Amino acid sequence: MGSVAVVLVAAGSGTRMGTGLPKALVLLAGQPLLTRALATVARCPDVSLVVIVAPPSRLDEAGAAVSGAQVPAGLEVLVVPGGTSRGDSVAAGLAALPRQASIVLVHDAARALAPVSLFASVIEAVRAGHSAVIPGLPVVDTIKEVDAAGHVVSTPDRSSLRAIQTPQGFDREVLRRAHESSAGALVTDDAALVERMGIGVHVIAGDPLALKITTREDLVLAETMLERRPA
Ligand code: C5P
Repeated sequence: MGSVAVVLVAAGSGTRMGTGLPKALVLLAGQPLLTRALATVARCPDVSLVVIVAPPSRLDEAGAAVSGAQVPAGLEVLVVPGGTSRGDSVAAGLAALPRQASIVLVHDAARALAPVSLFASVIEAVRAGHSAVIPGLPVVDTIKEVDAAGHVVSTPDRSSLRAIQTPQGFDREVLRRAHESSAGALVTDDAALVERMGIGVHVIAGDPLALKITTREDLVLAETMLERRPA
């Protein structure tokens, strides 16, 4: 079975949080989001390498967050500087991957509570033969496409919509080609690059714990989820 690597993107600015800190270094119940995300990855038995993509000006603090995660001896952890867009940061992480990683998971440090079980389900689906696997939750709100003037353009059928999360899992070669062929494209996830190549992307059940912690309100919600999470 091929080895699994995780690219943990943590180089975002966190502007929407308004703390002045890069989002991955914001504390959730006393621990940086990055530390919490890494601690979960460290509990995934299939993962042998994590590449953390950190804010270029905060590499030392990212290193400290790594130390706080109590990573087991068998798990290799690299820290590399990120880029100006999320896509650039993922590309920087992919460039640091060793040759032997055959499955790559891309994960947002901002989804710091995504559980081990979600990582396991994504890895299992890639191993079952899907070259791109993404977790998704049914959408509860009605979603409308709106133009720049604020007019509704369309209302897609909600039953076919999913809110997509990370970790997203890929056959390493498929992800490499997707990034190579769409370098610089402004997309908000990696699966979008695979879709552009005409390769099928498989959706599995997401997890409410994998919410993206973006605003102060999300942080409060995440703290509540953490308190109520079974031990
Ligand atoms: O800002 P956004 O919601 O797209 O961030 C999603 C994830 O991508 C976050 O974990 C963030 O740290 C990361 N990111 C990054 N480099 C950037 C922008 C975002 O690693 N330049």
